[in-house]
Amino acid sequence: MPSFVTGFPRIGEKRELKFALESYWSGKSDFSEVEKTAKMLRARHWGYQKDAGIDLISVNDFSLYDNMLDMAVTLGAIPARFKNLEGEELYFSMARGNKNAVAMEMTKWFNTNYHYIVPELSPYDEYKLNASKIINEYKEAKEFGLEKIKVNLIGPITFLALSKRIDRGDTFELLGKILPIYEELLSEISKLDQNIIVQFDEPFFVKDLEPKHLSLIKPTYDKLASVADNLKIIVATYFEHASEAVKVLVNTPISGIALDLVHGKENLQIIDIVANSGKKLFAGVVDGRNVWINDIQKSVELLEQIASKVAKENICVGTSCSLLHTPFTLAYEEKLNNEIRTWLSFAKEKLEEIAIIEKLFRGKELNEAQKAILQSNIDANQTRKSAEIIHDKAVQARVAGDIKLERDDKFEDRIKIQHQVLNYPTLPTTTIGSFPQTAEVRKARRDFKNGIISKEEYEAAMKAYIDECVAFQEEAGLDVLVHGEPERNDMVEYFGEQLKGFAFTQNGWVQSYGSRCVKPPIIYGDVSRPKAMTVDWITYAQSKTKKIMKGMLTGPVTILNWSFVRDDIERSEVSKQIALAIADEVADLQEAGIKIIQVDEAAFKEGYPLRSSKIPAYEEWAVRDFKICVAPAHAQTQIHTHMCYSEFNDIIRTIEAMDADVISIETARSGNELLKIFAKVGYKQEVGPGVYDIHSPRIPSVKEIVEQIHKLLEVLPKEQLWINPDCGLKTRKWEEVKPSLKNMVEAVKIVRAEV
Ligand code: GLN
Ligand code: ZN
Repeated sequence: MPSFVTGFPRIGEKRELKFALESYWSGKSDFSEVEKTAKMLRARHWGYQKDAGIDLISVNDFSLYDNMLDMAVTLGAIPARFKNLEGEELYFSMARGNKNAVAMEMTKWFNTNYHYIVPELSPYDEYKLNASKIINEYKEAKEFGLEKIKVNLIGPITFLALSKRIDRGDTFELLGKILPIYEELLSEISKLDQNIIVQFDEPFFVKDLEPKHLSLIKPTYDKLASVADNLKIIVATYFEHASEAVKVLVNTPISGIALDLVHGKENLQIIDIVANSGKKLFAGVVDGRNVWINDIQKSVELLEQIASKVAKENICVGTSCSLLHTPFTLAYEEKLNNEIRTWLSFAKEKLEEIAIIEKLFRGKELNEAQKAILQSNIDANQTRKSAEIIHDKAVQARVAGDIKLERDDKFEDRIKIQHQVLNYPTLPTTTIGSFPQTAEVRKARRDFKNGIISKEEYEAAMKAYIDECVAFQEEAGLDVLVHGEPERNDMVEYFGEQLKGFAFTQNGWVQSYGSRCVKPPIIYGDVSRPKAMTVDWITYAQSKTKKIMKGMLTGPVTILNWSFVRDDIERSEVSKQIALAIADEVADLQEAGIKIIQVDEAAFKEGYPLRSSKIPAYEEWAVRDFKICVAPAHAQTQIHTHMCYSEFNDIIRTIEAMDADVISIETARSGNELLKIFAKVGYKQEVGPGVYDIHSPRIPSVKEIVEQIHKLLEVLPKEQLWINPDCGLKTRKWEEVKPSLKNMVEAVKIVRAEV
């Protein structure tokens, strides 16, 4: 049986696709250049897989923007506003909008940091197959010389689950319209070769499936698996276990099921069922969404254990999910600590791991290069257990010791004291933290990093920017000021760079959406804070004003969610270590006279498990660690938090339990609808529901903001409300920020006079 890879990243190890796309979008080059780059990348990625000895290689895992978008185009699910367009113009207009039509919505792909385009479906649309991308890529792969090819497609159930209907109806009602197009597609694909494997990605199957969803699986896959005799259908699930769906899938004529054995260990309990069905098991043993080396010996043991149930010839060895979520290769990392490097494995290195595991499992001889990799894998897994740079006794003792878990006073008592001490007006105004990151600010940071300017010059530049921010905020009349975050490139990286236990790559890019990539920090060891991280900047800013200056920190859950987290200890343990480091920063800021401290948990909601049964455990440690961060705060020190989110219905009690004095959230785009839950549950703490949308360059008028505040006042009493934009302002321009904030303050004055 072949080894396999669920899917390979496509942006290019030097982000070639990104640069080709952006050059084309800005009119600097033709689309033919994008096509050339795309073809070169596909060939390169196929070549890597082939050279490593992967047998079953994917086509159509490539995309110029996003696979969900590709599937929508394949099915002819084109929203009406784009219907006059075609080809690349149509495709990129759907993804990015154009002069006349707004882009389609984008949202997070399960619990990863990848974002997909949300298909828009209408019951009145006639769907129509456009198989050209898939057919062309298949032919290209044949020409390239691939022998065993699998065609990756988003499965119909996941496609519908992630789509939205413009009439707000149930997308699953459209299965009857979509399925015939899928069948037609399979029939086209079947003509391409004698034997073809099609992989349907159905990650939706790892969620809590309702009976309604489960009942769709059998009829759907009965149909798809009987379109053509020369097609073999695999259903790929990943990110969690798929126990319920597997029990149904084994009763359909599909030929194989891919299971994530890294993030869905429960899958092992249903191996019997797969074994009895005689279906192929695509065993995902190499983590497709993390950067750590596999424990090759352990993986082989696991496979052997599985082989006691599933016939060995029915087991394929591969990745737990698409490698889309890992960086390309370690090859360009010149600055990475040598020891840390031995513990890492990116997409290209993971291919080698799969090949080696496969051979060992089948009792085949390794070649010399593979023998060397295996030996260093064994050594590295050993050193990882004891290496000094990972294991910090002081941190471990602190985590295991007595930890302050709560603030000393209850919210009801704290808030009275805070109002006396801080003395802010009704409907206090503030911002979320960052101000526009101008070209000069970024240049100063870069020049300092590259040694072009001295520390003194750098600090002078930052201070000049802080001065400007403070002066503007005073002039605008804001109540609680911020320093503007000019020293931060990113709210996680900034802290990671100053904490022990974090490493940074030079080229570890991972696609976030379209042409955008992120370079997450790698948390490899026990985390501690060698020295204060923000105190100098914040106290400098405070020295420039008599108003209250808010200190600005990032919380542990957000740091975890936007990093690659070590897999040798529990995530909750890493989180606790970070929380203790942040707690020290809170204590230092307070000591330095800072009266309000904000701990951002922008990504709090992102970390939620896919399975509801796992939510309570997550919430428990996530809340625990936020509270640890802020536990040093005295009653009179006001703790704020911010979340880039507005839908709190499911988690309002958890948010309440975090016990922040003030929370700012992203409700601007939903009026007061999503705020109602706060009133409904009798939420006591203060709330700053964003009064305008910072994601758009539009400047909101005074009148509009007054109306928005009126709406908020319909839901929550004035005593409970703060007035602020709905997120940080770093991506905006000063020309937008200045009038917007002035209008916001004007609007508050008008409303204050009324109330
Ligand atoms: N304090 C951060 C900022 O204003 C928060 C960013 C965020 O919520 N993503 O930029
Ligand atoms: Zn935000």
